[in-house]
Amino acid sequence: MTGGDPTDGGDKARALPLPPLREVIAKHGLSANRALGQNFLFDLNLTGRIARAAAPLDVGTVIEIGPGPGGLTRALLDHGARKVIVIERDRRFLPVLAEIDAAYPGRLSVIEGDALKVDAAKLGDGPRRIVANLPYNVATPLLMAWLEAGTTFASLTLMFQKEVADRLLAKPRTKDYGRLSIAAQWRADVKRLFDVPPRAFTPPPKVTSTVVQLVPRAEPLYPADGKVLEKVTAAAFGQRRKMLRQSLRQVSPQAEEILVEVGIAPTARGEELSIEQFCALARAFKARRGPTAPL
Ligand code: SAM
Repeated sequence: MTGGDPTDGGDKARALPLPPLREVIAKHGLSANRALGQNFLFDLNLTGRIARAAAPLDVGTVIEIGPGPGGLTRALLDHGARKVIVIERDRRFLPVLAEIDAAYPGRLSVIEGDALKVDAAKLGDGPRRIVANLPYNVATPLLMAWLEAGTTFASLTLMFQKEVADRLLAKPRTKDYGRLSIAAQWRADVKRLFDVPPRAFTPPPKVTSTVVQLVPRAEPLYPADGKVLEKVTAAAFGQRRKMLRQSLRQVSPQAEEILVEVGIAPTARGEELSIEQFCALARAFKARRGPTAPL
């Protein structure tokens, strides 16, 4: 370990026989590709903090999306991850990742490809933990797919743009409350861990980031058909300013009647409803259509 790079956190005691990340980037002539959401973390304090938050790492498999030059990957391995499987779309990073593999024999597997097309639920042995400084352009669809897999994943420790984190954590009657808040909190316990300022990244993004941890629930918070719930919340928040009796008409012409039946004022707006009320609505919409008819 050569040390001496202040952005590498000054942690000279590490046994890692790999050069500092900035040296690696320079040696391989790598530059950030903004189209792929590349904002790298070189600060060992930060990557270490994320790795510790995802513990325990010494059982099962850690799956990392978008390792890039491998700052977080190294931290996960340094913090005792038994097995790390990374999925990286940009093949320029493969030689760097091969060097990390050589430094931690048998503990790293690299998949070259688009994480949206890989079924992470099938990778490695359980318990599976996903840890990632996510590429922002695909963060939400990836999260939705992982949440649908339920307890296949023991935890998801993820860096998002702060505004996405705010929506994941939002409560009713706030401006950030919406489809994403309901989808996430219905299926998982969601916790804000810490914010990361733009200057912590190379190159710095325009916005603050937030590390969030989601622990999927054994059962969703309240019974409901996930697809129907998604339709109801999409309609309710697609026209946020409108009263539910109007916005939910696109789900069913009987929307007003159904609202009354479940005890919700037809004049209410989506942002006033709890997750429990949205689930009650989803059950009522489904019951009207019968168990098999599509909504
Ligand atoms: N983990 C590294 C770090 O913290 O320094 C890099 C994080 S950077 C925000 C996002 C990474 O995801 C980049 O390496 C990028 O190439 C990769 N990436 C972008 N889209 C991807 C996709 N669809 N599938 C897999 N990797 C992707």
